[in-house]
Amino acid sequence: MKLAQRIGRIKPSPTLAITAKANALRAEGRDIIGFGAGEPDFDTPENIKAAAVKAIQEGFTKYTPVGGIDELKDAIIAKMSRDHGLPYKRSQVVVSCGAKHSLYNLIQILCEEGDEVIIPAPYWVSYVDIVVLAGATPVIVDTPEEGGFKLTPELLKKAITDRSKAIILNSPSNPTGSAYHRRELEALAAVIEPTSMTVISDDIYEKILYDGFEFFSIAAISEALRNRTVVVNGVSKAYAMTGWRIGYAAGPEEIIAAITKLQSQNTSNPTSIAQKASVEALNGDQSAVAMMVKAFRERRNIIVDALNAIPSISCPLPQGAFYVFPNVSALYGRSCKGTKIANSSDLAAYLLDEANVAVVPGADFGNDNYIRLSYATSLKLIEEGIKRIGRACTRLV
Ligand code: PMP
Ligand code: GLU
Repeated sequence: MKLAQRIGRIKPSPTLAITAKANALRAEGRDIIGFGAGEPDFDTPENIKAAAVKAIQEGFTKYTPVGGIDELKDAIIAKMSRDHGLPYKRSQVVVSCGAKHSLYNLIQILCEEGDEVIIPAPYWVSYVDIVVLAGATPVIVDTPEEGGFKLTPELLKKAITDRSKAIILNSPSNPTGSAYHRRELEALAAVIEPTSMTVISDDIYEKILYDGFEFFSIAAISEALRNRTVVVNGVSKAYAMTGWRIGYAAGPEEIIAAITKLQSQNTSNPTSIAQKASVEALNGDQSAVAMMVKAFRERRNIIVDALNAIPSISCPLPQGAFYVFPNVSALYGRSCKGTKIANSSDLAAYLLDEANVAVVPGADFGNDNYIRLSYATSLKLIEEGIKRIGRACTRLV
């Protein structure tokens, strides 16, 4: 069968593919330790689950308005005001089936052939394919580890052309965990202001920050910036709600209306029950978030130290999210039993085969010198998994 060319231009999400592969190997009886999946290992907090159960019992199981119920929009508006001092109206908020869906919709209504979207690398795996699906061109800007994997005004200036339509910023970042300070965002904003680019600020990890790092939203720099920024966020990461599929976008009315129109012709509303649960997540007791962040911080410290203790691996300390992005390029060129490691994909395959450990190759995030490990898993598995990686690396000569 001849499928549309569109689908041939993209690849399956590598993070989801590796997680699926690890699960399949486990089902075959292999003892795999998974550092692949980027999802909290905690259960969704009880108050949030109870809100969903109540919604079911009360029969809240029908279509809702396409862009989300007012109660959830109001909870999002209250959160944006409380956390960032950002004022939004209901007409400036749309709820979708996960932040990935929000990003997909946004790029679909914003970008077309001939448009360029600036994406700093390392980037989250789906940005590039989402842009390609819209027929637009991703413009990848490499950001080096020495600069904390952050975009600088100089790098940004070089990437801007008269076709630049949008820029995607993600702080804290998946996969590096690096986060932007307010002054760094202000410097980028000064370069963006004279252009006509829309800023897409993917804030999905905003609550997962360590050592007092203060989150700052680029939309809060000025009213002019807010009027050209779309903030994308969701409940997946902060509230351990990956399976509930609720994300949202907040930004200019025209953009939000277009997303809602598009959504009315594909998914319709996001799940009614999950919307009620998300109202409770945003308005209810926040203590579970602090508990999870405390646990992630402890795990981060342990995994970074353990990785740095392996000769040939060097791992920077992330400020946020729940990923480490160690440099493994010193292992390239080495072999074990005839298997040569030439790049991050070879190393990930070798670690899965020889060490029963699943990691994601850095190449999928736009930098082949690294691999990504999610530490949203137990301390016991982190310690055992890194031991296995260390032993497998010693066998590479
Ligand atoms: N943005 C980033 C940077 C992510 O890591 C994720 C995680 N999958 C998403 C967006 C999408 O999250 P979700 O669709 O689960 O809301
Ligand atoms: N964002 C997570 C990750 O990077 C979940 C999987 C996905 O949607 O890509 O692993």
